Amino acid sequence: MFTLVIIGRPNVGKSTLFNRLARKQMAIIDDTPGVTRDWRETEGWLLDKKIRLIDTAGLEEAFDDSMRGKMRRQTELALQEADAVLFMVDGRSGITPMDKHFANWLRRQDIPTVLAVNKCEHENAAAAGLAEAYALGLGEPLPMSAAHGYGLDDLYHMLSPYF
Ligand code: GDP
Ligand code: MG
Repeated sequence: MFTLVIIGRPNVGKSTLFNRLARKQMAIIDDTPGVTRDWRETEGWLLDKKIRLIDTAGLEEAFDDSMRGKMRRQTELALQEADAVLFMVDGRSGITPMDKHFANWLRRQDIPTVLAVNKCEHENAAAAGLAEAYALGLGEPLPMSAAHGYGLDDLYHMLSPYF
């Protein structure tokens, strides 16, 4: 089954998207960094396409270096399962150094990647977030709102060449 791995720093909205596509409340949403360290997976639906989804813990947000290493390893393991990666950033808070760090790392991986700019339900905020995201060098950013379900049609079309 086509496997989509959702990655990104904490609080960008990964679990919100996971829950929406799973169409049931499976992932525990917790704003405390480091709480959800192991990935969760489910079968879900992207429109009419049944997919396997993996929701990773937030990248690199860690209490100490050993935790950081563990989370990085888990992310790398998750990426080995991936037919495509959805790298999510937060259009409302803007691009952070951590986002840039992961974009640089992700560009070196040989996996189809969609750069999703979440929390884009308000147009003004979206415009600023999208311009910053474009500079990450991961192609055309996809505006979305995981909370409102916006952007899923475009996500489908960006992923469909890899189905
Ligand atoms: P994760 O840490 O990346 O898994 O992020 P969560 O899914 O736990 O979401 C973090 C916070 O962002 C929560 O308070 C969500 O309600 C909020 N959130 C998620 N998606 C959206 C969105 O599309 N728009 C807005 N405004 N908030 C969102
Ligand atoms: Mg989460």
